[in-house]
Amino acid sequence: MYVYAADVWCDSCGEAIKSSLETPSNYGPPYDTNDYPSEASEGHSDSPSHCGAGAECLERVDLADYASARGAKLIRTLDDRLRYVGAPMEELTEYGAEYLRESIKEMLAPSKVRPVEPDIRARKRALASLWSSFWSDYL
Ligand SMILES: [Zn+2]
Repeated sequence: MYVYAADVWCDSCGEAIKSSLETPSNYGPPYDTNDYPSEASEGHSDSPSHCGAGAECLERVDLADYASARGAKLIRTLDDRLRYVGAPMEELTEYGAEYLRESIKEMLAPSKVRPVEPDIRARKRALASLWSSFWSDYL
């Protein structure tokens, strides 16, 4: 895991960013994480976190893989930005675990506000399924 530009990055993306940048020469290591990715040990986050590269992540997750057959069909019609998420990362704090449980409950509940498009609803359910599987120890 890498820390860079106030975000966390999976190993693949962290390495890719490093190789695209010049090593800062005037100081370090350790380098300022705003300027250069720095390897970090897995921390604990207050919310489920994903690699900062999002849909561009080299270890991205296809949400269609976490959906029902019908849901997967809908998700495959979405923009890459919505279809893929960055690799899930980090353990959760106690607060993060609480947030995870509440979020999953909300993602699976029927929308109270307005009707949600079926593809967006399928995406939410798939994300809830990914989170439930990756952070299963916290449920
Ligand atoms: Zn990544």
